[in-house]
Amino acid sequence: MGVTTEADIHWHRTAGEAPVCAKLQDDIKADVVIVGGGLTGTRTAIGLAESGAKVVLLEAQRIGYGASGRSGGQCNPMWRATPDDLAKRLGGACAERLVETTIGSADALFADIEKYAVDCDPQQNGWVQAAHCGASRNNLERLAQAWNAVGTKIERLDRPGTENRTGSKAYGFSLFHPNGGHVHPLSMTRGFARAAIRLGAELYDRSPVQAMSRDGNKWRLTTPEGSVTAEQVILSTNGYTDNLWPNLKRTFFPMVSVSLATAPLSDNLRKTILPNSVTIADTRRAIYYSRYDRDGRLVFGCIGSTEDAATLGGVQRLKRGLRTVFPQLADTEIEATWAGRIAVTPEMMPHLHQPAPGVLAGLGYSGRGIAMTSVMARTMVQKVLGAADDTLPFPISPIQPIPMHWAARKVIPLGAPAMTLRDQIDTLFDPT
Ligand SMILES: Cc1cc2nc3c(=O)[nH]c(=O)nc-3n(C[C@H](O)[C@H](O)[C@H](O)COP(=O)(O)OP(=O)(O)OC[C@H]3O[C@@H](n4cnc5c(N)ncnc54)[C@H](O)[C@@H]3O)c2cc1C
Repeated sequence: MGVTTEADIHWHRTAGEAPVCAKLQDDIKADVVIVGGGLTGTRTAIGLAESGAKVVLLEAQRIGYGASGRSGGQCNPMWRATPDDLAKRLGGACAERLVETTIGSADALFADIEKYAVDCDPQQNGWVQAAHCGASRNNLERLAQAWNAVGTKIERLDRPGTENRTGSKAYGFSLFHPNGGHVHPLSMTRGFARAAIRLGAELYDRSPVQAMSRDGNKWRLTTPEGSVTAEQVILSTNGYTDNLWPNLKRTFFPMVSVSLATAPLSDNLRKTILPNSVTIADTRRAIYYSRYDRDGRLVFGCIGSTEDAATLGGVQRLKRGLRTVFPQLADTEIEATWAGRIAVTPEMMPHLHQPAPGVLAGLGYSGRGIAMTSVMARTMVQKVLGAADDTLPFPISPIQPIPMHWAARKVIPLGAPAMTLRDQIDTLFDPT
């Protein structure tokens, strides 16, 4: 075991072809330069290239290197806040736009997959959001009531209903979100990248942006062997944000998610465990989530400590979690384990920043990026094309470093075992 490499990540074994990208070895010009080749960056490149802009994307490693190629790939099109909470936080008009966009976000994602011919095993069969304790059950009840009042069709499931939908006896209550689903996250990222290239965007990999500076009314971004000069810069580096823009990486907690993939399950097991290929994610602080891949392997995840999935018992925690939710799988072979970084903001909602003229940053999906990266990408495209701020679904907020961020970074690895302990206490003393 050690820091996760491509060879560890299950998705690399089953992904669609990687786009062919060169390393930037020239000084070039563009209208827009995007930093980061994950779902946010590639989907933004599609939207801007479609508008006729000359788009260049620079990725430090390979397309899909970050969270987008390591993700659970669940499309969970819902916030943890109610529309009323959002209105208090963002103001009524902005919250209304965000609510409307959120409700349509899953359908918009699956429509994009079709429109851009993205080969990524998409399945839109619903998401079960399960309560791990009584207090969470009350929160979910409140969430369903509030969102259904503005147009969603969330179903409430009691214990037998939850067991029927998921094959798990671990939960006394859950919500069923019918338009949730799952995708192959690395294939989707690569597919978006290929679509952007088809539309005329230039994508470079192995091209880390090391500095950006003002050059007249433009920005000049330099990589080890080249540079790009452009009027507009988009930063889409999420949990992998470095020191390129001052304080950007201090706007979120750099948490880690760990995952495992089982060997393919038998047809009999697949009839009862997540039948019809629904997905499940629960309300634990150290969240348990799972879904199938296209060959019937169960991909199961939870919160981890570092980019080595095994740190502080991460792999054991994954296996215990799998046994808790699906004891039927106690003896199932585990084929792969891996880790990836997620960017968690204090309010668990993404941020859109405009820290200087011609610079936008969209990040902080807090573990809900599969549909929301596309929402953010479309928002940044609108903004670059001249949309007024009061028409965007996300408010533009200033970069506000989290106080004592350095200290938080130090204790984050301990967070996973601590959160797991709190979750165990909840289920013991406040069962659903
Ligand atoms: C294990 C795991 C499981 C997850 N499960 C789910 C899930 O089931 N459902 C869900 O909705 N979300 C999930 N997420 C979150 C979701 O995957 C992310 O929110 C989403 O992929 C973020 O995409 P992104 O493009 O913004 O960032 P990333 O995919 O992280 O891409 C950022 C890229 O920026 C590049 N970069 C950084 N600095 C530079 C630089 N200076 N120059 C050039 N390039 C740079 C990095 O190399 C990286 O490739 C999960 C995340 C992880 C890690």
